[in-house]
Amino acid sequence: MRTLYWLQCGACGGDTMSLLAMETPDMVELFEAQNLRMLWHPSLSGGTVQEHDKIIADLRSGRRPLDILLVEGFVATGPDGTGMFHTYRGEPKSKLVKDLAQQAAVVIAVGTCASFGGIGNSGETEACGLQFTQEKCGGLLGKNFRSRRDRPVINLPGCPVHPAILKDVLCIIGDGEMPVLNENQCPKDWYSMLVHQGCTRNEYHEYRVEEEDFGGRGCMFFHLGCRGPLTYAPCNKVLWNQRNSKTNAGVPCFGCTQPDFPKNHAFFHTPNIVNVPLELPNGVSRAHYLAYKGMAAAAAPERLTKRKNRV
Ligand code: SF4
Repeated sequence: MRTLYWLQCGACGGDTMSLLAMETPDMVELFEAQNLRMLWHPSLSGGTVQEHDKIIADLRSGRRPLDILLVEGFVATGPDGTGMFHTYRGEPKSKLVKDLAQQAAVVIAVGTCASFGGIGNSGETEACGLQFTQEKCGGLLGKNFRSRRDRPVINLPGCPVHPAILKDVLCIIGDGEMPVLNENQCPKDWYSMLVHQGCTRNEYHEYRVEEEDFGGRGCMFFHLGCRGPLTYAPCNKVLWNQRNSKTNAGVPCFGCTQPDFPKNHAFFHTPNIVNVPLELPNGVSRAHYLAYKGMAAAAAPERLTKRKNRV
């Protein structure tokens, strides 16, 4: 039976909610099917502190093999690099992360905070992700870190991680395979498509039919802060609860899977100059964008500008 340990660092618990939100199979069915044993989870396990201490001691010493280490939340290395802002039994939690990562066959950073530092980056915690600090490779474990299976940390960003991604990656690893990773060490199968791709508002974006307030059907890129054309995640391909996504429901994408999340500007707002967003869709030149969006807006059909289903 393979072993799995879930470690929580600077976290809100959102990724644990994703773990519980897995469907077909759910978490319990998945663990049974993959022959996985959860040694400990801080919210779900019912053992005593002494039992937990014993698990930690056995894992650290290698007496008990650790197959998969999942870390949720950013690692606090402050103040002044001591890590004492966040401790476990009197020692820096960052040390526990390092010790367990050395023993694990596979290390997974669950969520944007564990992957890149996430919301911790904006404070004085000196936060980092396991192997990245925002876009920069390194993080707590260093860019040369490799797990016992000779693999870098697998990053599964998202605030929180999409439950389907977590489930599928655990299935792949359970089958003895490894996901192929991109330059941010995220599995390509889920993080090589833009949120924009598959959004139900795409036709409105195409003709620059935009919303200036919430509640409409139009695109939210130009004024309302949508970062779908700049964000790599499958939210509009693999729907949440198999039913919906933020942009489908009328909420702008905040770019929560990106290494620089959260950006240092207000949500629900697109910084722009004379109605042209400062940041354009990935790979688009400003001159071409200005020309073609102007023409597209002029050609917009009435069924879009008037928000009608049919002409
Ligand atoms: S709402 Fe966002 S994701 Fe949807 S089409 Fe507009 S920019 Fe793209």
